[in-house]
Amino acid sequence: MDIIAAIATGSAPTAIGVVRVSGEGCFDLCGAAFAAESGRSFTDLEPRKMVYGRMLDRQGRCVDRGLAVRFPGPHSYTGEDCAEFHCHGSPVVLREVLSSLFAAGARQAGPGEFTKRAFLNGRLDLTEAEAVADLIDAESAAAARNAAAQLGGSLRRDFEAIYDQLLDVTSQFYAVVDYPDEDIEDLHPAALATALEASSATLRRLLDTCERGRVLKTGVRTAIVGRPNAGKSSLLNALAGYERAIVTDIPGTTRDTVEESVLCGGVRLRLIDTAGIHETADAVERLGVERSRQAVESADLALAVVDAAAGFTEEDEEILRLAARCPRWILVLNKDDLVPGYAQIARMPKDLPQPADVVCVSALTGTGLDVLADAVADLFPEGDVADGAILTNIRQQEAALRAQRAISRAAEALVSGMTPDAVLTDAEEALSALGELTGRTAGEEIVSRIFQRFCVGK
Ligand code: GDP
Repeated sequence: MDIIAAIATGSAPTAIGVVRVSGEGCFDLCGAAFAAESGRSFTDLEPRKMVYGRMLDRQGRCVDRGLAVRFPGPHSYTGEDCAEFHCHGSPVVLREVLSSLFAAGARQAGPGEFTKRAFLNGRLDLTEAEAVADLIDAESAAAARNAAAQLGGSLRRDFEAIYDQLLDVTSQFYAVVDYPDEDIEDLHPAALATALEASSATLRRLLDTCERGRVLKTGVRTAIVGRPNAGKSSLLNALAGYERAIVTDIPGTTRDTVEESVLCGGVRLRLIDTAGIHETADAVERLGVERSRQAVESADLALAVVDAAAGFTEEDEEILRLAARCPRWILVLNKDDLVPGYAQIARMPKDLPQPADVVCVSALTGTGLDVLADAVADLFPEGDVADGAILTNIRQQEAALRAQRAISRAAEALVSGMTPDAVLTDAEEALSALGELTGRTAGEEIVSRIFQRFCVGK
């Protein structure tokens, strides 16, 4: 494969910036961009050791002083000869160093091309390669931990175990058919049934984590509902830590839904500020109200905000009933700085739907937000699924589901007494879905599509 090079650290000025290069023979051209202080040629530098020296432009002039490191293949990220130049993070310097490498014969790497080579050279399977992208895009520490475990092979091991088990039984069957004269033991239906059941159980366990996976990857869809002036925008702003939604004294000015994403109790919340549940003749306003209802119904979590200072009203009652349509909801008694929120609870009708939690906050002063964060963390615990065992990737989920369905069909065919070849057609379909998942049998088109989503330099 030819020699590729790219800036790995983005285009903003930073303390340190990295240029990386990969491809057989790349060490020969690295001397064009770097001269070691010791005077040793790049090809002679000790492997995997940082070396101090001068970064060079196309004319061989020094543009920076920094460190370079040589990673001879196959024990490198891509599996080929690789090198990195750690410069000061000036976009100009990084471009000069890159340009020297281009002049010496390297070409610009495409999106995800380093990781794609790692995959093609067998250093990573597809679940691990995708974990690289997930790790970089992680929006919470929990999401990063899950991606890191997947990068370490947690999913690959599960999927490969299923693949190998299915491959064992199918190949045994074909051996019997193709070499009838050899003394190969017939495939026993019980052995096939056991293999199918074990594979199915593992896939079910993984597929059961999809909902958690979505929450981990894209966050908890959160609707804030409450009547006008309850303090929804103020709560949103307090959580976000900066002003985005319009905070105003005039009821009903939050006409559009505004999306904000915040970390609350370690959980990523995608907040949708809504227009409030207020019957109105205004067409624009009505649209907002309708969207409010839709938001609650599609949300994972609703925060029902009540103005504790204004007292509990019929409208609030309606809000609470609406919030209860959400799988999880928290009653937020706001303006605790004016009137203690708990004073309102006694005045509420007794037959109202029960929230998962009740918290008193002041969106103005910020008191009680820590209690709200604890309540959110309780609703979305992360501790009960082992690290890395949560399926967050849609492509992987879809392929796992296809494999699971094919295995179910195979198991049904077996029970209903169909011939083994009918059973094996389905088992092979499962194999093909699993092969696509880990990349063992994924076509070039699928592989290209996956790496196109990466950034340049990954
Ligand atoms: P929304 O219509 O539900 O979005 O309500 P806003 O967030 O616009 O708040 C309405 C008014 O109540 C504004 O004047 C806020 O400053 C005020 N407000 C919001 N939260 C608090 C609070 O916790 N304490 C006090 N004292 N005022 C608040």
